[in-house]
Amino acid sequence: MSVPMSVPESVPETAPREASPGLGAGRIEVVAGPMFAGKSEELVRRVHRARLAGRAVVVVSHALDTRSGAGRVASHSGLVVESLQAASAADLPGLVPPGTELVAVDEAQFFGPGLVEVATGLADAGVVVVVAGLSVTFDGRPFEPLPALMAVAERVDKLTAVCAVCGRDAAYHVRVRADEPPGTVADAAAPVPAHVGGTESYQARCRLHRGG
Ligand SMILES: [Zn+2]
Repeated sequence: MSVPMSVPESVPETAPREASPGLGAGRIEVVAGPMFAGKSEELVRRVHRARLAGRAVVVVSHALDTRSGAGRVASHSGLVVESLQAASAADLPGLVPPGTELVAVDEAQFFGPGLVEVATGLADAGVVVVVAGLSVTFDGRPFEPLPALMAVAERVDKLTAVCAVCGRDAAYHVRVRADEPPGTVADAAAPVPAHVGGTESYQARCRLHRGG
C-alpha cells in the first residue's frame, strides 16, 4: 500500500491559530491568590507544559525574590525553572526576544501597576503572558496589579490556601512575626524584601480567622 508523498503547499485557512504564534495568539492568564496557595507551582506547571510542546518560553522573576535562589522559580513539589530577573515592569520587554511564545512572570505584585500595560502590550503582540502573584496584601486589601490584570485577562485562576487555624479554604494570609510591635511594619503593599517570606513570617487564613 502506497502513501501519497505530496504535501499541501499552504496551510489551510482553517488551521487552528494556536498552531502558529503571532498576532491573535496572545492572551493574558492570571494565577492569583494568597501566600501558600500554590501559585508558583501552577506557573511552573504551565511553563513545563509549554516547553514540552516546543514553545519558546521566557520566565521572569523579580529581583527582590531570591527564595529559590536568584534566577530560578521552584515549585514545592520540586520542579525548578530558570528565570531572568527584572527590577521593574519596564525591564520586561527587553528580556523577551523575537519569537517568544510564552512569558511567565512570577511574584507579579512586586512589579507594580506598570505591569498591566507591559502585559497588555506583549499579549497584543501575540505572546501568551502568564502572570502569577498575590491578589491580597497581608492586611487583607486588594494588591495591585493583580486585580487589574484579572480584569483584562482571558483566563483567571484564583487559588486558595488552607487556613492554618481551622483548615477551611484560605483566601488571605496574615503576618505572624511575634517580634514586631504593631505599626512597625512597612506598608503591606510596598515591594520590600521583608514582605517576601515563608512560614516563619506568614500564615494562610480563612475569612473567619484573618483578624488574628
Ligand atoms: Zn480558619
